[in-house]
Amino acid sequence: MIKHNFSAGPSVLPKSVMEKASKAVLDFDNGLSILEISHRSKSFVDVMENARSLALELLGLEGKGYKALFLQGGASTQFLMVALNLLEKRAGYLNSGTWADKAIKEAKIYDDIYEVASSKSANYNYIPKGYDIPEDYDYFHFTTNNTIFGTQMKSFPKSPIPMVCDMSSDIFSRQLDYSQFDLIYAGAQKNMGPAGTTLVIVKEDILGKVSRKIPSMMDYKVHIGKSSMFNTPPVFAVYTSMLTLQWLKDLGGVKAIEEENDKKARLIYSEIDLNPLFKGFAVKEDRSNMNATFTLENENLKETFDTMCAEAGISGINGHRSVGGYRASMYNALSLDSVKALVEVMSELESKA
Ligand SMILES: *Cc1c(COP(=O)(O)O)cnc(C)c1O
Repeated sequence: MIKHNFSAGPSVLPKSVMEKASKAVLDFDNGLSILEISHRSKSFVDVMENARSLALELLGLEGKGYKALFLQGGASTQFLMVALNLLEKRAGYLNSGTWADKAIKEAKIYDDIYEVASSKSANYNYIPKGYDIPEDYDYFHFTTNNTIFGTQMKSFPKSPIPMVCDMSSDIFSRQLDYSQFDLIYAGAQKNMGPAGTTLVIVKEDILGKVSRKIPSMMDYKVHIGKSSMFNTPPVFAVYTSMLTLQWLKDLGGVKAIEEENDKKARLIYSEIDLNPLFKGFAVKEDRSNMNATFTLENENLKETFDTMCAEAGISGINGHRSVGGYRASMYNALSLDSVKALVEVMSELESKA
């Protein structure tokens, strides 16, 4: 049976990528597996360089003073790494979801954090807007897409200070002027590859301004100096991410995938709005194109709906415990056909009820 994988992360990857990655496990270079070659071998150094340059190319950031790194420790390690590398006096954070809140908690270990705005009291069902960003702060931190609540920033404030963002769940999904951001980080397992590596894209000129000593593994400058090979990188995760980035480039890049992502989002949200059995969680204007969150109006239908979904091969749509209901994650590699399959089940439920 065809599986429709709506998992929020780790999540669906293109089939062709999975096939190439599987082959490389058996034979990547002259009979040697990607899992057993040296990360200093020419064939892997080429993979790392290719992955780094594809990331910058796809975001339109080549030749603009940015460096791409593939690090470990997940996006969660970036919560503290950002603070260690950039926080001197004070920073401003937008509290738009659980991940943003966690980033604030980590940064608070080092200094006083100013929350420029928060939607916590509304269980994060919208993106705060109309706030001011103090110009004497070190940086402004925000989450572009709130994976758990299904909200996404559609526009970005003009910031007088460096803009730092967690783009874990919508990087490479839409066209933006990425040069408005000074540091972007994203765990690979949402929209780029398997778990195990985190992409960091940083404008070099914002670094080197704090007075504290930074442990080597936590220091962006150290990783940049060693071309993202300061220690053994997660070779398989980097290789598979590179394959996914190459897949995206061959498809026509971010512009082409954005059109697909728009179609998928329009389809699911129109069903949520037109089908009286379902209700969207996030306010309409802030709805995420990546994670659609919704609930059943009548909880008694849950068992029927869950069974119908399972029978149609739909997997991974359970909502996060802090929201309940359902969450359909529609990352780049999820096809429009998968969304059609889900929408069909939703409308079938309506005809049955
Ligand atoms: C999943 C997620 C994280 C956490 O990523 P890890 O790699 O598990 O640390 C952080 N931020 C956002 C927006 C996420 O979706």
